[in-house]
Amino acid sequence: MSGKTTRAKCPYCSAEFEVPSTLVYTTCPYCGTTFKLDKPFESIEHYVFKLKYNSHQVFEHLKRFVSIQPGVPEDVKQVMSYIKSTLYYVPMYIFEVVVETPCLDSRILDDQEYLEASVLGGQETGFEVIPAVDNYPFPIPRNYSFPAQTREYFKPKIMREAIYLQPELNPYELLKTIVKPYLDKAVSEAELACPGNYEVVNKSSFKGIAHYPFWLVEYEYNGNTYRGVVDGADGTIIYLEYPLAKNKRAKFLVMGLIGAVLSSVLTLLFSTYHGGISQNTLLMGILAYTGGLYVFFSKFLGKKGVYNYNPSEEGVFAPPR
Ligand SMILES: [Zn+2]
Repeated sequence: MSGKTTRAKCPYCSAEFEVPSTLVYTTCPYCGTTFKLDKPFESIEHYVFKLKYNSHQVFEHLKRFVSIQPGVPEDVKQVMSYIKSTLYYVPMYIFEVVVETPCLDSRILDDQEYLEASVLGGQETGFEVIPAVDNYPFPIPRNYSFPAQTREYFKPKIMREAIYLQPELNPYELLKTIVKPYLDKAVSEAELACPGNYEVVNKSSFKGIAHYPFWLVEYEYNGNTYRGVVDGADGTIIYLEYPLAKNKRAKFLVMGLIGAVLSSVLTLLFSTYHGGISQNTLLMGILAYTGGLYVFFSKFLGKKGVYNYNPSEEGVFAPPR
């Protein structure tokens, strides 16, 4: 542990232990009680998202998924072998956002049709589940949705059976950022209904902490190690490294080269059309060319393909959630 630490005392079992002084909340490593460091007796909801997949199921799932990746060797499914899997519980904060902008004077608009809207002004509500640490030990896609309906109360045994990450960020600071877009929307609704004549009521609150399970799986193929990350609650594969077949690598490389040359030629032609060749446009063309080359060399000579789950591209190839 780096940086300053403070001494925490568990309000439930009285155990004392050191924690980084930047923490707002911590979980007692002895009894599993989560508490606020400066107000240990203030109650806080602590949930855990239910683990539905064990390490065996996760590896089988990963195996099927590896075999359908573009450019993988034909024998990958038969040859790939399990090295190990580690269960992580990553901390999330749950917020309930309630923002209201009621009009102060409903007589502002006397048109009957607008009367109701002007009384209401604006109202925006929602639940937000936000990462409670800055960096995870593996990539989790931005805008990843955590299904809130599968949570249950926290059991301290997960701290012994998995790698349990403590929440690090200040939830009250985060809440301000989260509320902002809701606030803006409610204000613009009120501006329409009763311009300049409304109040802003923010009833948003921090609801609690939840821990979400992810499996980090390592497997081997022909002497190389590859990693995959699987959502332990619903089985979504969110990150995957996979081997690429030698002959397919060569094919991709040639295609990549052609693509890179084409794109730089097109860039050159385009800029020539828009005012003739200058040193700058020539340089741009060369940069586009070398950039394209770099991407293809690093991707296809690196022997590894990488898949990243993209929440907005949920479709045919995405595993069922
Ligand atoms: Zn305790």
